[in-house]
Amino acid sequence: MFKLKYYLPKDVFKTVFDIDYNKLYEAGKRIILMDIDNTLISYAESAPTEELLRLFYRIKQIGFEIIFISNNHKQRVQKFAATIDAKYINNAMKPFKRGYRHVMKLVKPLGKDKIISIGDQLITDVLGANRFGIDAYLVRPIEVHSEKWYTSLNRKIEAYVFKKIKRYYPEIYRKIEVWDEKV
Ligand SMILES: [Mg+2]
Repeated sequence: MFKLKYYLPKDVFKTVFDIDYNKLYEAGKRIILMDIDNTLISYAESAPTEELLRLFYRIKQIGFEIIFISNNHKQRVQKFAATIDAKYINNAMKPFKRGYRHVMKLVKPLGKDKIISIGDQLITDVLGANRFGIDAYLVRPIEVHSEKWYTSLNRKIEAYVFKKIKRYYPEIYRKIEVWDEKV
């Protein structure tokens, strides 16, 4: 059954650089699950930019652990995570629960309430985290043109969900809408 509430991000940001990580730490969060593709880098890139590396460093300095959780294959995810020596889950099959269950093993004894998820897709990142009981933050996808066919398909479903959000949760939709105005 389609449940719109599972597709609602806790908050929406244009990029990962716009998130107030100090505030999240003060709220008791300790683990940040990050999607990679189109959240941090485009499909055309493979390594974090200097700016991203500085952000990761700052996030870690605050006291967070970053864990990368990606539906992409091991070679790509492992290589990316290795640049900051972070844990990772590849082939996570978001939105299914398997990858998130794996996360819980990695972060033991911390509970779900200590974790937040950041990603660019409603259908994978937001739905997956919400169904599992983790706060989901949505960022604008970096570059949609190079996406694979299955992601393009997700985007079509996503467009439908966005319409529903616009209708029933205009206050959340307004934040998403701001993305386009700034382009
Ligand atoms: Mg993504």
